[in-house]
Amino acid sequence: MLELKDVTAHYGTSQALFGMSLSLQAGEVATLLGRNGMGKTTTINTIMGIVRASGGSIRFDGQELVGRPSFRTANLGLGLVPEGRQIFPNLTMMENLVATASNHLGLPDPWTVEKVFALFPELATRIGSMGNLLSGGEQQMLAIGRALMTNPRLLILDEATEGLAPLVRRRIWEALTQIRGQGMSILVVDKNLADLMKIADRHFIVQRGQVEWSGTSAELAADEAVRRRYLEF
Ligand code: ATP
Repeated sequence: MLELKDVTAHYGTSQALFGMSLSLQAGEVATLLGRNGMGKTTTINTIMGIVRASGGSIRFDGQELVGRPSFRTANLGLGLVPEGRQIFPNLTMMENLVATASNHLGLPDPWTVEKVFALFPELATRIGSMGNLLSGGEQQMLAIGRALMTNPRLLILDEATEGLAPLVRRRIWEALTQIRGQGMSILVVDKNLADLMKIADRHFIVQRGQVEWSGTSAELAADEAVRRRYLEF
């Protein structure tokens, strides 16, 4: 469904991706792992077209994404939950939720406000609250709901549970597990390895702008040396 081949990206003259290659099958949950500054966010933003790839290929459902403006990438069925959530502070919860709603692919049974509230009942009580008055957990649930309202085929989350209390984190993982059960493909960045290993099929360890290791949760669990080398913070 998603295939990156030898993707490079730069910020000005400084190179951030050095031949990033990975692939994700439809219905799979995959993670990008690795220490800070290794290129996970840049990879996600390059897939979304927010950062321009300077070389290589990114194919989604057979279509080339490199060179495509970011709004046209979203229309192909990629939904982003960005780092820092980026909720519109001066819009209400409901306005945030419907602001970017769409069904460009004409998927049957599209996401609705009611379905998002079934996934996150916490949001149903906060309909009229301004974005900046929501708690971190509510903002993240809203950011996920907002991405789902674009009816993506692939949901990409950057720092899925960063800064959230353990109970809220659990709610996010439960929701992602539920969405996954409905067949959604997911690419996720997060620091909670134990949680990621429960939900993900495949992991990609990013080191200095490229994938240094990939494998299943069972393979990662069995390889203490890899975890120690790349993932101890
Ligand atoms: P983190 O978890 O800290 O977000 P990351 O693995 O997502 O880390 P990136 O944010 O993708 O890493 O950063 C990769 C490299 O690109 C780093 O060296 C970083 O300093 C650099 N970088 C990221 N964003 C910018 C930017 N806007 N301008 C210049 N350099 C940047």
